[in-house]
Amino acid sequence: MQVIEAVDAMRKAMASARHGGQSIGLVPTMGALHAGHAGLIRMARDRCDVVVVSVFVNPLQFGPNENFDQYPRDREGDNALCESENVDIAFFPQLGELLPADFSTSVEEQRLSAGLCGISRPQHFRGYATMALKMLLIVGPDVAFYGHKDAQRAAVVQKLVKDLGVTVEINVGPTIRDKDGLAVNALNSRFTRSQRQDARAVYKSLKMAQSVVENGVSNVDRVLAEVTHMISRHRRLRVIYVAIVDKDTMEPLREITPGRALIAVAVWVDEIRLTDNILV
Ligand code: AMP
Repeated sequence: MQVIEAVDAMRKAMASARHGGQSIGLVPTMGALHAGHAGLIRMARDRCDVVVVSVFVNPLQFGPNENFDQYPRDREGDNALCESENVDIAFFPQLGELLPADFSTSVEEQRLSAGLCGISRPQHFRGYATMALKMLLIVGPDVAFYGHKDAQRAAVVQKLVKDLGVTVEINVGPTIRDKDGLAVNALNSRFTRSQRQDARAVYKSLKMAQSVVENGVSNVDRVLAEVTHMISRHRRLRVIYVAIVDKDTMEPLREITPGRALIAVAVWVDEIRLTDNILV
């Protein structure tokens, strides 16, 4: 495995892969790699000749009170996971090179970014989209892999590349969960036992909603009410939003059309923000 830090070296490695006729797959991450990332890396491994994992904690997507400094960083662990998943290139760009002091450009997707997490995190999607595009431009992959865990982000990237004509295929992988249903996440290790116990209710409520819909309920309000009620029974959870939206446009649905509806939830588990979703 090659470890690259400099943007120029990355561009050269990619140019030479392309020259050799190899297809390139990119898995963009913020590191502290876990089973959720590994799932995407395996999809890339199955599909592409050269697998690149980028690790960059992007300050642009953190709000002023969102603790960019405290986001977990684990370079050794990231290296080890990449090695064991047969990654070809681990790309660890430096903050100062990707975002020099005079950096002054941003891209903003304005429609899909507006709802859900865009309401409580007003700068988030602009910062996310800007770095997502920059990473795609540096690496120039044929296929880039994103997790359904962050369905709104994946949809925003999909829209961004469509609107701006970036030639890359976007692939969205399934959410990887622990045995208790909690989606694997870099911040899960911060949960105490009792916080985790409560956090599990989020996925349980989504599964419950799924079975309500499977039993023929298509009324959005009814399903929203059931999910909110189930989450509110747990004293460490505070609902930020529960929403039912079209899976591609992220627009609120009036009626649940099976196969198109995404039920998305964000809660506070005490001080830790948790998001999850399910397609019904
Ligand atoms: P992050 O490092 O949190 O920015 O995530 C990098 C990529 O991994 C994103 O496309 C996420 O959606 C994806 N991801 C994170 N957690 C999971 C998970 N539990 N299952 C599937 N994909 C995930």
